Amino acid sequence: MRQNDPGYQNPDNHTETDTEGLNQNKQGTGDGIQTDWSGKRAEESGENSVQKDSRRRRSLLSRVHIRKIDLNPQSPGEEEEEAGGRRNTELVAVTYFFIVLLLLLTVWIGYLEIFKRDDLNSNINNTKKAGTSGNVIRGSILTGDGTVLASTSIDGDGNETRSYPYSNIFAHVIGYASNGSAGLEAEENYDLMSSHTSLLSQIQSKDDGKKVQGDNVIVTLNPSLQQTAYYALGSYKGAVVVMEPDSGKILAMVSKPDFDPNTISTQWENLVADSSSGVLLNRATQGLYPPGSTFKMLTTLAYLREHPSDYTQFSWDCTGSLSRGDVTITCYHGEQHGQEDLTAAFRNSCNTAFADIGLNLKDNALRNVAEDFLFNSKLPTDIQSSQSVFKLTKNSSDGEKMTTAIGQGDTLVTPLHMAMVTSTIANGGIMMRPYLVDQIKSSEGDTVSKNNPSIYKKLMTPDEAQTITQFMEATVTSGTAQALSGAGYSVAGKTGSAEHDIDGGGTGTHSWFCGFSNVDDPDIVVAVIAEDAGTGSAVAVPIAKQIFDAYYGG
Ligand SMILES: [Zn+2]
Repeated sequence: MRQNDPGYQNPDNHTETDTEGLNQNKQGTGDGIQTDWSGKRAEESGENSVQKDSRRRRSLLSRVHIRKIDLNPQSPGEEEEEAGGRRNTELVAVTYFFIVLLLLLTVWIGYLEIFKRDDLNSNINNTKKAGTSGNVIRGSILTGDGTVLASTSIDGDGNETRSYPYSNIFAHVIGYASNGSAGLEAEENYDLMSSHTSLLSQIQSKDDGKKVQGDNVIVTLNPSLQQTAYYALGSYKGAVVVMEPDSGKILAMVSKPDFDPNTISTQWENLVADSSSGVLLNRATQGLYPPGSTFKMLTTLAYLREHPSDYTQFSWDCTGSLSRGDVTITCYHGEQHGQEDLTAAFRNSCNTAFADIGLNLKDNALRNVAEDFLFNSKLPTDIQSSQSVFKLTKNSSDGEKMTTAIGQGDTLVTPLHMAMVTSTIANGGIMMRPYLVDQIKSSEGDTVSKNNPSIYKKLMTPDEAQTITQFMEATVTSGTAQALSGAGYSVAGKTGSAEHDIDGGGTGTHSWFCGFSNVDDPDIVVAVIAEDAGTGSAVAVPIAKQIFDAYYGG
């Protein structure tokens, strides 16, 4: 009967003898069926029970197969077979259970990889990183259009080289990652050395003994504007910042003197030794300068707040100088501006008029405005920057009040900060947080995290912003920034000629311009400082014009 039982017909057409052997064995041991498909006969009869148990375990799966189909109720050893059958059924169930579990797990991982990868990558609780710098190739820094600003290549021996295709042009803002680190290379080090490549490629890299590719940092910088700003500043020491007032995106950030980050290692000793020029300093974010007349934007705001309904009645007769005690304020080059309203005083950048405003503002009025605008505070940004300084108090002397009101005295500001002040005016009174990193992407292009425009604070009413904008427009149409009028775009701005003491005696004059274009719906803010270059009108304004021209395709 067993010979007729198809359950004993193994796939390789084993002989009847084999089957008998199986029968014999089974009969002798109860459930000791050996699925010895090789055809060995029942030498097993001579085995002890331990050996048999061992063989039973080895042939577990085959036994399951046999038991499942051995349903003949007339077989000898029936009770044992039933017990064995129950166990086999349980084993089948457990096996199927694990197979189903495995399938579900596979489907789930597939689902996460394909559909939920972005969500997982950007989840702050996700610590799935390839780990330390030892097994990650430093990611690239790119602009939104894919222009590579920094990348790492590997030669056949596994040596890594960090390259900066634009050499000096992005030197300070991108920074460097050898001999210490600076700029975005320092600020974004964690992201550049983290990897969110797919699980599969991480496993593959591990199997191949290769490093995984780090994440890429996508910046807000505009390569074309950056180059224009770089060449426009020419050989002057100084800085340029270009930003979008309504988003806070930094489009260009230049600092000079500069260096080539490709040769930072070989040039390091020279760069560090040259302490007088501060070549490694990013002047845009860390350079502290007297704001000069650009500060009159804030002095004007303080005045507007004390005279909200009668500022149009402002009247001043400029004789070219104003003295209190031993301090004398003069208008630039001894100019006498004569009778002025507030608009005229602003567009002429009349020092005596603003010195008089400074004398008459209530205690702490100018300080409150300055501190609202983040003087003496850390700027609300991830961009590492120096803290601007404002020292005037209600106990300050008249001389200090006058000099501070015209942007001299002890006040110091970074170009980035002045760009933020100007952006606040351009943006109807709302200061946005400036940022350089648009998003982090895995090397496969998946978004890991994204920065969105973020409001720092509403610092002025729309009316205040509008009034100061009108004064800044007058500065362009008939004041100190006239070189910007008549272009195919509108500009509102303020110049500055900031005097400062020079080491070793004498005074120098930094050339400032801060302004924005397309006044009704501002596009970009440009802040320029050229050290010891003279008046804002002569140098900073033409530099800004090149940038506006480039932006509008001129
Ligand atoms: Zn004047």
